[in-house]
Amino acid sequence: MPRMPETTGAARVAFVTLGCKVNQAESDTIAAALPGACVVLDAAEADVVVVNTCTVTGEADHKARKAVRHALGLPNAPTVIVTGCMAALDPAGVAALGDRVIAEPDKERVLDRVVEISGRTDRPPVHARSRTRVQLKVEDGCDAFCSYCIIPYARGVPRAVPLAGIMASARELAAAGVAEVVLAGINIGRYDDGGTRLPDVIEAVAGAGIPRVRISSIEPGDVDARFLEAAARTPAFCRHLHIPLQSGSDTVLARMGRPYDTARFAETVAAAREALPGVAVSTDVIVGFPGETDAEHEETLAFVEATGFSRLHVFRYSARAGTPAAEMGDQVPPQVRVARSAELRALGERLTMQAAGAARGRSAELLVERVAPARLDGVRRVEGTTREYLRAIVPHRSAVPGALLRVRLGEAGTTGVVSSVVESLG
Ligand code: SF4
Repeated sequence: MPRMPETTGAARVAFVTLGCKVNQAESDTIAAALPGACVVLDAAEADVVVVNTCTVTGEADHKARKAVRHALGLPNAPTVIVTGCMAALDPAGVAALGDRVIAEPDKERVLDRVVEISGRTDRPPVHARSRTRVQLKVEDGCDAFCSYCIIPYARGVPRAVPLAGIMASARELAAAGVAEVVLAGINIGRYDDGGTRLPDVIEAVAGAGIPRVRISSIEPGDVDARFLEAAARTPAFCRHLHIPLQSGSDTVLARMGRPYDTARFAETVAAAREALPGVAVSTDVIVGFPGETDAEHEETLAFVEATGFSRLHVFRYSARAGTPAAEMGDQVPPQVRVARSAELRALGERLTMQAAGAARGRSAELLVERVAPARLDGVRRVEGTTREYLRAIVPHRSAVPGALLRVRLGEAGTTGVVSSVVESLG
């Protein structure tokens, strides 16, 4: 990644990142290569807005276009650099969104573009970002070709970031006092750097002195003995796994081209819970996949409930041109998708409350992410995330984002955020 010339008049750059954690990691990487003070948090202050897009569903495309139009309408009349999956699949369509739009499919080139634009601006820099939790991209691409997914076409086959590069970043982050690193990838279980696999990366990054290491998401088939052993013997590894289920119906899973059935998935979760006591398991579910019947939807509800996920991300299926699922007959009517999604979201909220209830009275490590909005009692509170990915809030006079606190978990509020009290630092 080229460095920004010191002498260049610095443009103020804001990032709007849509979609997955890989996109977040890539935006972070680009931002990190800019002089820190060039990065602004408020797009309204920016001379350049980088919109890092996702194209996983038709709805994602819609959101990306909306983000670009919003950026174009900002008072500074910024140049809008559009990168990410939508720019890769349809650069001409992206460029047509406006005169000030630059479609840059190659993320490695985004920084060069910013430098070019900076040559034409002369604005004072503002402030840098927080370094509480950093996404570290370790892998890109996927060759699983699930029938609904455009990602293998947009991002290509899996490619591993060499371990040496990951370690250089990890050491830098540890030295900067970053509390948590999230290893991110499109399908990180496919990580393979000459035989170095994901479990090795987890142990190596933890060894660099990062207090907490987490992975963004892992496919069920990759939660194998080697992975679980490495996770279990790595104290920094957070006891939280996000394992995408997508459907709790075996017939839908088969149509999706997912390489497991519900029995296999249940075995995987059981093995994870045995190897990592107290682990929280969250998941993604797609509702309204073509041909999904009421009975199949009921199977999903039952399976999700029985598995006891701590958190559920529900996606309404939307056809993605170019994928096999888009060609399938029997597309589910939009209003049915909406109703099924609402039902599953309600279940997800109930499960999150259940998980929070089960954790009551436990000691947990809280990573402070922000000062909570003031309440009438005037007590300062901070909010953050436990290793198990529970949101918790705690009264504290001085803790700032990035601090690690030992807390005792109390009752969950209606939003699922758990009230807690401080036990000790660290
Ligand atoms: Fe898409 Fe399936 Fe690969 Fe995930 S595993 S990125 S859903 S093809």
